[in-house]
Amino acid sequence: MRVNAYAAPAAGEPLAPTTVERRDVGTNDVLIEIEYAGICHSDIHTVNGDWGPQPFPVVPGHEIVGRVTEVGDGVTRHRVGDRVGVGCMVNSCGECTNCRNGDEQYCRRGMTPTYAGTDRDGTTTQGGYSTHVVVDADFVLSVPDGLDPAAAAPLLCAGITTYSPLRRWGAGPGKKVAVVGLGGLGHLAVKIAHALGAEVTVLSQSLKKQEDGLRLGADHYHATADRETFKQLAGRFDLILNTVSASIDLNAYLRLLAVDGTLVNVGAPAEPLSLHVMSLIGGRRSFAGSMIGGIAQTQEMLDFCAEHGIGAEIEVIPAEKINQAYERVLASDVRYRFVIDASTLR
Ligand code: NAP
Ligand code: ZN
Repeated sequence: MRVNAYAAPAAGEPLAPTTVERRDVGTNDVLIEIEYAGICHSDIHTVNGDWGPQPFPVVPGHEIVGRVTEVGDGVTRHRVGDRVGVGCMVNSCGECTNCRNGDEQYCRRGMTPTYAGTDRDGTTTQGGYSTHVVVDADFVLSVPDGLDPAAAAPLLCAGITTYSPLRRWGAGPGKKVAVVGLGGLGHLAVKIAHALGAEVTVLSQSLKKQEDGLRLGADHYHATADRETFKQLAGRFDLILNTVSASIDLNAYLRLLAVDGTLVNVGAPAEPLSLHVMSLIGGRRSFAGSMIGGIAQTQEMLDFCAEHGIGAEIEVIPAEKINQAYERVLASDVRYRFVIDASTLR
């Protein structure tokens, strides 16, 4: 089946309309008619070549929500007409210790990314900036009825990427959590950490989005351009979630951790970060990383968000505005996620 899509033809070049081939629906496959696809900063890193060479043309998009229009004979968990989602991965080996522990994202044989990855049949995966996609049913999530489909799309990457470390490092009542960067990931981190009962502080470059941050659930809001912030908040936090897409002065942020505190980096800048071990030693602190979350936890996150009325704050755009949206994300001018209306691709 040939379907419409938007692709980056080469590194750093604007995206343009194209078509891609979707495989026939296999025994364990689901065909999804895409309704919405979020724009993640990872899409931009990928097509700009920040993370190395890519198999161009690349159709990005790993925050997918749509309706099931066909299922294979072996599929029991999804039915035609169901509203479903697909995130950053579409397959894994299913047999290694990590897959068996529900950490498919860390599959020892390598999970299959939703785009710019190599599928089981050797073809290159193409993502959600498209009208349809065929995905193995085990990597298709159920989108609960209570969630608005457009606002739910960003949960499939930004939502799980922040939910997973917040749970892993115990964000909850009595914990002081800081979120660095109020973009796509950051604004969902604020909502989720607040819903988990933590005391939430936003650390943004400026105070421009302070009102929004407080409305989203933050208890405190500080500008990182103001050096006073780093004096005032020294030793304060149990957990800092860094969602920034560029390099930051890691040591300055590590000093904001209390004893035994952890700074978890989910932001994935192109350049290495520099770390003075004294920033860790001087408070038994930890520096960690985290990548999306497993399939079971992604479903748990969607159910949690439905229960707590959490969706992304979005700006829905037609496909022809994708390149403009990329510019605005790069300028930190996103409030707080662009979502492509896939009907504009038909
Ligand atoms: P985004 O919407 O662009 O948000 C990033 C935010 O970081 C910006 O809104 C801005 O917030 C802040 N920022 C940007 N440039 C900065 C700079 N030079 N210095 C300080 N702060 C800066 O991006 P996103 O979609 O949330 O993604 C964020 C990062 O996470 C990207 O690197 C992405 O690839 C990565 N990511 C990782 C995973 C994972 O599994 N680990 C999953 C998804 C995405 P303020 O304006 O508030 O300062
Ligand atoms: Zn993403």
